[in-house]
Amino acid sequence: MTALHTTALSKSYGTRTAVADCTVDLPEGKVIGLVGANGAGKSTFLALAAGLVAPTSGSVRIFGEEVRGGLHPRASYLPQRRALYPDFTVDEMIRAVGAMNRRWSRERVEEALAAHTALDRGAKVGSLSPGVRTRLALALGLGRMPDLLLLDEPLSDLDPLARDEVLRSIMADVAERGTTVVLSSHLLGELREVCDHVLLLHDGRVHLDGDVDELLADHRDLVGPADGE
Ligand code: ATP
Repeated sequence: MTALHTTALSKSYGTRTAVADCTVDLPEGKVIGLVGANGAGKSTFLALAAGLVAPTSGSVRIFGEEVRGGLHPRASYLPQRRALYPDFTVDEMIRAVGAMNRRWSRERVEEALAAHTALDRGAKVGSLSPGVRTRLALALGLGRMPDLLLLDEPLSDLDPLARDEVLRSIMADVAERGTTVVLSSHLLGELREVCDHVLLLHDGRVHLDGDVDELLADHRDLVGPADGE
């Protein structure tokens, strides 16, 4: 079964084309890395898959259903700017997100948070470090019991320990629930550890749909600066 399928997917902003004619077929249960230089179209591709922005042309299907104006119920999306309310406490944030979702498991959130360093539930979300905020946002995403996780730069701004924890959380979900993951990153070392294959975007187009070693061998220059690598 295909988890995420795009057909000739394109998105333009005025004269600028962010995503151009992308046709991809991402199988269920795989971890797919989305790579490319700054401005290559990674965030736009994920936002299109999340139903957050409408395509200029082409289409997105998740588990066979066309995405139109909204997040598919079987998907979770972690935007690059983590969408959390800074004035809420951690507990209030968990309850608020729970109230907004039909398909929701508080237990799953707690499980994901338990894997991390103790988190002060009374702390304001705005006071959390970027690493802790990402871990909270990811745990909230997992609370939707997704079959497809769309993660925009889940490892950026994190120290190596936090990166490791976030990756472990993601991979535990993959191992336990067979979740399909699409994650964008500049960190090729980490991608090599977790990804079954990578999609390299260049000027909005799919330049390579293959394995990480192929990418490292032939297209290293198109990946952009390695964000702390
Ligand atoms: P980065 O690694 O810097 O986040 P990216 O690969 O995620 O880059 P996008 O953010 O998808 O790339 O941007 C692709 C192109 O589309 C860029 O040229 C960007 O300026 C443009 N773009 C993205 N969103 C918008 C928008 N809302 N309005 C206008 N242009 C946009």
